[in-house]
Amino acid sequence: MRPDILNPLFSEVQSLKGVGPRLSKPLERLKLSRVKDMLYHFPHNYVYRQYRETLDISDVGHNIIIKITVVDMRSGHSHRSPLRIIGQDKNGDVVSMIFFGRNAGWAKKQLPMESERIVSGKLEQYGDELQIVHPDHINPITDSKDTAPPQVEPIYPLSEGVTNGRIGQMVSEAMAVMPKLDEWIEPSVIEKYGWADWQDALRSIHDKADENAHDRLAYDELLANQITMQLVRADMDRRKCMQIHGDGRLIDALKLPFEMTGAQKRTIAEIEGDLRQSRPMLRLLQGDVGSGKTIVALMTLLRCVESGAQAAFLAPTEILTRQHYANLQQMLAPLPVNIAILTGRDKGKVREATLMGLADGSIDIIIGTHAIFQEAVTYKNLAVAVIDEQHKFGVSQRLMLTKKGRGVPHLLVMTATPIPRTLALACYGEMDVSQLDELPPGRTPIETRVISENRIDEIIKGLERHLSSGKQAFWVCPLIEESGNSGLAAAEVRAEMLQKHFGNKIAIVHGRMKNQDKDKVMESFINKEILLLVATTVIEVGVDVPNASLMIVEAADHFGLAQLHQLRGRVGRGSEKSICLLIRSEELSETAHKRLSLMRKSNDGFEIAEEDLNLRGAGEMIGTRQSGGSPFQVATDTQVRALLSTAANDAKLLIQRDGGLSGVRGNAARTLLYLFERDAGVATLRSG
Ligand code: ADP
Ligand code: MG
Repeated sequence: MRPDILNPLFSEVQSLKGVGPRLSKPLERLKLSRVKDMLYHFPHNYVYRQYRETLDISDVGHNIIIKITVVDMRSGHSHRSPLRIIGQDKNGDVVSMIFFGRNAGWAKKQLPMESERIVSGKLEQYGDELQIVHPDHINPITDSKDTAPPQVEPIYPLSEGVTNGRIGQMVSEAMAVMPKLDEWIEPSVIEKYGWADWQDALRSIHDKADENAHDRLAYDELLANQITMQLVRADMDRRKCMQIHGDGRLIDALKLPFEMTGAQKRTIAEIEGDLRQSRPMLRLLQGDVGSGKTIVALMTLLRCVESGAQAAFLAPTEILTRQHYANLQQMLAPLPVNIAILTGRDKGKVREATLMGLADGSIDIIIGTHAIFQEAVTYKNLAVAVIDEQHKFGVSQRLMLTKKGRGVPHLLVMTATPIPRTLALACYGEMDVSQLDELPPGRTPIETRVISENRIDEIIKGLERHLSSGKQAFWVCPLIEESGNSGLAAAEVRAEMLQKHFGNKIAIVHGRMKNQDKDKVMESFINKEILLLVATTVIEVGVDVPNASLMIVEAADHFGLAQLHQLRGRVGRGSEKSICLLIRSEELSETAHKRLSLMRKSNDGFEIAEEDLNLRGAGEMIGTRQSGGSPFQVATDTQVRALLSTAANDAKLLIQRDGGLSGVRGNAARTLLYLFERDAGVATLRSG
């Protein structure tokens, strides 16, 4: 249970003073639902202002605070020209304050003639005149000290319907209820970096650009992550599982149409080593698209069945599940292995029969979506689980698995999402890792070309030639519907346009379609009834269509590189030479340019992920978004690099000294885990 001291932080934002229902939409868009979210909504910029006694041309371009007297007002001639208020400093020099969309009535209230005001804003020069467009503060002069605008003001990420000032107020309200928490960081680490305590660090970061405070808050998140990982690992190590020594009767009888690659053999040996232990396997298999992970999975499943236990193979989507099922069923046909499928689509009698088979042990291998780990499904003796294409198979899902079967099943998680080395410890520090770093022989490398969007006619002509020779293609767009004025291609608009060229040879698939409809479209693509598939990134994972040898990605500069690489991996599966066309915006930033040429040069997912991280790191600042693979909200990639290994050591030491987290610091660390919602980590303490 979450400690009471955190309750104020987990109350809804609406519980703060003056936060009414009108703010709920904008706050929702900003993902600010609880008081805690408000505290962690960091400014992405700060305005610095200087107080000036008099106007001075040398301040042009800077934000100033100045006392003026209103001496004139000129409302616009038409409703479109701005309102102009003339202010005078104490020397009689003048500045125009320009307001768009304001009328004389408003001015009479805010800036009446001859009134004195303290205003702030960016001083600009327009011809001979000094001006401030939309002063950000206009304060009357009173006796109170606070009438002057702040000299440093945080600027928050905003959404329509909520102003910067309003967010600032809510942050202050949140700070007022912020509890004092015991320190969870190792004292020597605090000392080394000269960090403030948690409360002060939060106060500071909402006050000024304080990198040191941001580091501390990022470290908190890294530490929570590392403690959780290590608790989970320790929990796994305490559990018993079935030791698997297959006798080879199934694997030896399996006829593979190819020789395994060295990487496949090595990986299988690593897995078999794990399976023989009484400590459960917790292994991640990383391998680029097409590196042959399925066979490794199959070998793992078969070893388990050879030992008389059940094995489960989980895939992320219905389509992929069916593809795996068809594929394995065919390979296993000559063997005495009973294989079954279970997805959300299976209902009624069929489903009942499968559930029976799992419970009485007559099914050896079950292939399915998440349905196979639902409450209602019981196994006679589940000993191995393989999870496909899901590096995000989280701690809590794993704990759910431990409730199946008698002991804990051995777990193999497979992913093609390349995680850069820097993030590896954070994403799966508690796992052992195998890598399939060798592609099966005989693959023709995919050729990647980057082409400007203004050559779309040429692209369509090329596509026409491609399709008329009977080959298939994907066309990926970043959005489903055309969005406002972003100019990004939307799948629907694009599909309509392409339909004019290609008629009924084309279909569209996107994430908002019903699963069944999606599957239908995918199936007709697999069956070649459809030649061109227009899609959003839903096709990222899984499907194997060897006849599709052209991948076109529109607005490629808007995708993450890891994502582009995954998309590209959808082609190049047959013997035909494949092409990936990345359509770019006409205008490209230098970084975007570098990122796309990296795609052109490299076919290696790990190299791409690593370089992408480097390219992003270059322009990084507080509040910038983390790279695709990052599990962190607070810590930037640079901070992960600088602080993660310290956090890992810190966590290790803490757990060595106080594995039950029951001492003073241990308890503080528990609070930290709850603060970062790593409840699953704490759960291992109780169950273990
Ligand atoms: P992924 O790692 O993307 O899951 P798959 O397991 O789907 O890759 O394998 C991709 C293709 O490569 C499949 O058609 C599979 O039969 C084939 N394949 C796998 N291993 C080898 C090998 N050692 N030699 C030749 N082809 C292989
Ligand atoms: Mg696969």
